[in-house]
Amino acid sequence: MVSFEEAIFNSLPPDNGLYYPENIPLLDPAFIKELRSKSQSEIGLEISRHFMANELSELDLRRIVEETLSFDFPLVRIIGEIHCLELFHGPTWAFKDLGARFLSRCMQHLISKKEKNINVLVATSGDTGGAVAAGFHGVDGVNVTILFPRNKVSDLQRKQLTTWGENVMTLEVEGSFDDCQRLVKTAFLDKDLNEELSLSSANSINIARLIPQMFYYFFAFQQLQNWDNVIVSVPSGNYGNLCAGLFAKKMGLPIARFIAASNDNKAVPDYLTTGHYKPLPSIETYANAMDVGAPSNFARLLEFFEGNVQRMRSLISGFSLSDPEILKTIDHLYQKTEYILDPHGAIGFRALQETLDDGELGIFLETAHPVKFVDTVKKAIPNMPSYQSKTEEIERKKSTCMRISSSYEDFRSYLTRQAV
Ligand SMILES: *Cc1c(COP(=O)(O)O)cnc(C)c1O
Repeated sequence: MVSFEEAIFNSLPPDNGLYYPENIPLLDPAFIKELRSKSQSEIGLEISRHFMANELSELDLRRIVEETLSFDFPLVRIIGEIHCLELFHGPTWAFKDLGARFLSRCMQHLISKKEKNINVLVATSGDTGGAVAAGFHGVDGVNVTILFPRNKVSDLQRKQLTTWGENVMTLEVEGSFDDCQRLVKTAFLDKDLNEELSLSSANSINIARLIPQMFYYFFAFQQLQNWDNVIVSVPSGNYGNLCAGLFAKKMGLPIARFIAASNDNKAVPDYLTTGHYKPLPSIETYANAMDVGAPSNFARLLEFFEGNVQRMRSLISGFSLSDPEILKTIDHLYQKTEYILDPHGAIGFRALQETLDDGELGIFLETAHPVKFVDTVKKAIPNMPSYQSKTEEIERKKSTCMRISSSYEDFRSYLTRQAV
């Protein structure tokens, strides 16, 4: 067993596994009964203190939670009994904003006890890096270096990565996302560099990103009158969101069951069908933030169900949707209601539309705003309304980033130069 502090700075345990909470406590049933009268911060604090109270004072934790929860999580009724939990009202318009903000502030409070700044390294294919940049920008004592592959991210994503400055540096790598990941991994294995720079990671398996993701399941229930037979459909890639949902249920939130909604990368739905887990190379799809062939949180799912696929089936059903059907779903719902789904939310919505039974109420997580995937959405809705007013501000901002080759020597010398 390790402390929360160790788990967040190391991100990955030395045995190549994943950190898992030793105990997922049950919240006081009275608290859950009175959920509707609680503020979002009260809920966040009540959940997180069970995991972190040993290391952070109640006052620090309250400050972290309040600073993290700086945006809304509205539950919107879409059609019939299907509701959408909009998780895209944060600074980079994706749910990853919440985890990144929370992690950055936890690190800030924990390092104020240390003497040295720490250096967070992140490789991104687009979305995660933007959320991490926004989440860490202006946080004292933490420098962030984000690596992204040149010409492989959208214009909007590039802006969201490169317009921060101050403690957030971005490197445009002449290479692929895999090259970016290799550079970061090599740096973590470089003992001398680690000693010099106190390297840390902000990747999606960091337990401090998982904890705040439990909050929004509670926020969804807060906004519901009827808690009977609530099914939550979770568009999934690395399965962090779904794990957080399971933890929320274990803490006492009465979620009836989940749907693991995936694109053509369906190792988990296939596992639920066959009982055999076969991680595969990832396939490119329109829902590209979920293009994960070997989900990193699968180990946590297994741990939750003690390796028993029967038990997993009793709480999670699998679903997957192909690219053409993603477009059809976006188009159909727009024709019917004018609600615009992003490609990830479209999968979550469609899973409910196809599988919700009478007497059940469905919630799907809308994990990103459609403006982030506007090229795909336009394929489905050619005459869609313009989001110009939403993107104007960021388009005006000036990008600053350095370009480096994909050689480790270049990357290393950049890092050591930055440090002086
Ligand atoms: C990361 C991401 C997902 C997948 O979430 P996981 O927790 O990795 O399953 C879904 N949609 C969007 C928009 C994302 O950025």
